[in-house]
Amino acid sequence: MKILVSNDDGYLAPGIHALADRLAAIADIVVVAPDSNRSGSSNSLTLDRPLRVMKAANGFYSINGTPSDCVHIALTGMLDERPDLVVSGINQGQNMGDDTLYSGTVAAATEGFLFGIPAIAFSQVDHGWAHIDDAAEVARDFVMRRLDELSRPFLLNVNIPNRPYAELQKIVPTRLGKRHESEPVIKSRDPHGNEIFWIGPVGKAKEASEGTDFHAIDQGWISVTPLQVDLTHPAQLERLKRLLA
Ligand code: MN
Repeated sequence: MKILVSNDDGYLAPGIHALADRLAAIADIVVVAPDSNRSGSSNSLTLDRPLRVMKAANGFYSINGTPSDCVHIALTGMLDERPDLVVSGINQGQNMGDDTLYSGTVAAATEGFLFGIPAIAFSQVDHGWAHIDDAAEVARDFVMRRLDELSRPFLLNVNIPNRPYAELQKIVPTRLGKRHESEPVIKSRDPHGNEIFWIGPVGKAKEASEGTDFHAIDQGWISVTPLQVDLTHPAQLERLKRLLA
């Protein structure tokens, strides 16, 4: 099996090192990841400047672009062979509910999915990298499961609590929950007195009922949500057809 590994925290992040280390034991891997932290970059592609690929001493490739750039370039000319799977992460911090729209971690996996390749995004629920090696073991176990029984290509969003491996044995299928609005933007001043803004943290869970990713994580379980990309709202489309008839 050939696996393309990427992330949005950058090629130096502990999460991608732990993940690549575990996956290398079960597959041929190539790591292509952003050269800096590009969290929150969603599915953006860099179109206003050329991109360069650098090879690190450990064999990882880094690109001065977004997670989507990395997977896109890897699949459209950089790699000699098409991978069987794209794996992204392990992200520092949860990607649940509405986070999935902003996440560069999910975006890297989505880019593979859009090219018809099965893809999995892994995130650790809490920041700080506690138990990252345990999460990487979980990711390796998950990749080895019989995922071929899913329709292909699949796109899976996995969130893993920061716990020891022995406490990470329950994996549940979930749907995305929803969050409240983000915390208000933080206003400040730069050293020259000009007003500046920091985007605030995400909102707390709003739809966290049983069956959601938020609910599963609250129980201390691993959450797996199958994602799709079609944003069409079918019921609204029918209303719109009647409205415009
Ligand atoms: Mn990130």
